[in-house]
Amino acid sequence: MKNNGTKIVLTASEIEMSDFKNNPFLAFLGGFPYRFPIWTSRSLYWPMLEDNEDGSARYAPYGLRKVEAGLLEHFSREDVVVCQPHNLKKFVGPNTKIVAISSMDPLGLAYVSQTYSTFLGFGEIPGTLHSFQKLLANKVFKKNPHLKIVVGGAGAWQLGKKAREFLGIDHIVLGEADIEIGEIFESIINGEPVPEVIRIKKNPTVDKLLPIYDPSVHGVVEISRGCGRNCQFCTPTMRKRRNVPISHIIKEIKTNLKYGGDGLITLATEDLFLYKCNSPKFYPNSLAVVDLLEKISKVPGLKAIQPAHISLAPVVADPELVQEAAHILIDYNRFTYNNKPIIAAETGIETGSVRLIKRYMRGKPLPFKPEEWPDIVEQALGILNDNQWTPAGTIIVGLPDENEDDALKNLELLDRIFNSKLFLIPLLFINLQDCILNKEKRAIFENLSETQLEVFLRSWEHNIHIYKKDWLSPQDKSPLENFATKLATKFVFSGGYMFYYGWHNDPIFNMRKELMKEAVGLKPINIIKTNIRRIKSNLR
Ligand code: SF4
Repeated sequence: MKNNGTKIVLTASEIEMSDFKNNPFLAFLGGFPYRFPIWTSRSLYWPMLEDNEDGSARYAPYGLRKVEAGLLEHFSREDVVVCQPHNLKKFVGPNTKIVAISSMDPLGLAYVSQTYSTFLGFGEIPGTLHSFQKLLANKVFKKNPHLKIVVGGAGAWQLGKKAREFLGIDHIVLGEADIEIGEIFESIINGEPVPEVIRIKKNPTVDKLLPIYDPSVHGVVEISRGCGRNCQFCTPTMRKRRNVPISHIIKEIKTNLKYGGDGLITLATEDLFLYKCNSPKFYPNSLAVVDLLEKISKVPGLKAIQPAHISLAPVVADPELVQEAAHILIDYNRFTYNNKPIIAAETGIETGSVRLIKRYMRGKPLPFKPEEWPDIVEQALGILNDNQWTPAGTIIVGLPDENEDDALKNLELLDRIFNSKLFLIPLLFINLQDCILNKEKRAIFENLSETQLEVFLRSWEHNIHIYKKDWLSPQDKSPLENFATKLATKFVFSGGYMFYYGWHNDPIFNMRKELMKEAVGLKPINIIKTNIRRIKSNLR
C-alpha cells in the first residue's frame, strides 16, 4: 500500500462496477434475487472489469466518475482514487479519511429489484442489496474504524437512519453534488460539523458541469439532465431539464474511448428526442437532435451508440426526426433482432388508462392530449418499428388507486400492441422517496387483482411471442445449433420447473410456473388466461 492509504477512496458494489458483458439492458439482472441460478456463473453475466496496473479501476460508474471530477478540483490526484471492492485493501489504510460509495440501489428498493426479487422466487434479497452489504462487510472497514463512510448516488435515499447505523454509514449525500462535493469532503476531513444527511438543493447549471477524467462503465456520457414532464412517480422530474453542450459531450466520449475496447457509448438522458427542446409543448428540436447525433458519430474509435431513454410522444409529433436519427444510429447499433441491426432504447408506456395519465402523468403525452395516450403509444411503436427501432417499454402495475377499469385499459392497450417489436418490462409501483407519490403505498403481488396480475402475465406473454424465435432460432445459427439451443432451454426450464417451481403451490409460484411452461412451449398460450382465474381464487 502506498503512503499508508489514499486520502479519499471511491468505490461501488461489485454489481454496480460490472458492465454485464457491455450490455446496459442486461444490467437489470442486478435486481434479480442473488440466489437466482445466474449468480452461480458470475463470469457469464457480470464479469469483473479490468483494473489499471496500480489496482485503480479502469472503468467506473458514471456518477462515481463525476464525483471524482468534482473532488479533483479540491484535492490532488494522489489524494483521490477509484477502485473496485476487491482492491480496497490496496488503497485503504491509516491515512485514508473517507471511503465514498456510489449506489443506484443499495437496499434493493428500486423498481426492478422490488418487482423481480419477489416475482422470481429464490428468496427476496436482490443482487444489488447483497453486493452492497458484501462491500460494507469488507475487512478494511473493521481495520480502519477512524475513516468516514459516505454514500451518494441515485439510491442513497434508501439508507434511512436504522440502515445507516446497521451498516456503519456516516453520511449520505442526496442531490446533484458535482460542484459542492469537494467542500463537503473537506469539512468532513477537518472534523467540522456536517449533517448525517447532506441535502444539495441547487442543481448545477450546465456551464458548471465538470467532464469526467477516466472512462465510465458502458461508456456513459450525459447529454441532458432532468425531464420536465412531471410524471408523479418519477425522480428525474424533480430536476430542472438541462442540456449538456456538444463540446462537453464529445470531450467525455473521447475520455471513454481512451482504452478502445468495444467502442460503446451510452447517451444518458431521460429523452434523446428532447435534446435542446425549447418548446413549452415539448415539440422536439429536430435540428439539434440530428446535429448532436451527427457530431457524436464522427468521433474516431466510436463503434456503437446506445441512447438510454426516449419518450413516445415526440415520435408521433415528429416521425421524420425518428427516421433521420435512425439513419445515423443504425450504423452504430449495439443489438440485433432476427440477425438484423436494430436501435434499442428504453421508454415509458406506464399505463393504458387515460384516467391515470390525467391524474399522474399529464405532461407525458405533450404536445398531445392525455385522452390520446393509448393511440400515441400504438402509433409511436409503429413508427419506431418501421424505422428499425425496437424499444424496451415499462408498464407500471398497481399505481395508487388503480381500479379494475384502469387495469382493463392496460390489457386493451397490450392487445393493441401485441405484434409490436417491443420488450415489455412490467413493474410494480414503487413509492420512491424522491418523487411526488412518495407518500403512497407501494404495490405488492399479494394485493394485485386478477386483472392486474393478468397485465403482468400478458406483458411477458408478449415478450415470449415477439422474442422466442429470435432467442431460440437465430438465423445466423445452423438448424443443428438451433435444435441444440431449444433442447438446452427446455432442459433448463423443465429442470427449474421440476426441482424448484413445481414444489411450490402459492399463487405467485403458480404464475411463474405458467410462464415457464409458456416459454418452452409446454402448454398453449391461452392456458395462462385460465390459470389467472385459478390464481385469483387461490388469492382469496
Ligand atoms: S417522461 Fe419519463 S423521465 Fe420524464 S417525468 Fe415522465 S417518467 Fe420521468
